[in-house]
Amino acid sequence: MAVEACGMCSREVPFDETVHVLVHTHGESGVIDRYVCRTCYESELEPLFE
Ligand SMILES: [Zn+2]
Repeated sequence: MAVEACGMCSREVPFDETVHVLVHTHGESGVIDRYVCRTCYESELEPLFE
């Protein structure tokens, strides 16, 4: 099965367990395009959108 390295904790997780995060910034980094594991997503990102 395909695995992806989480963009936050670097853990390799099955593709099904990842969340694709695409952020457009107005700064130098431009577009941040990475996969994060569900654990990181739920603990770090999801609260931002609540
Ligand atoms: Zn992670």
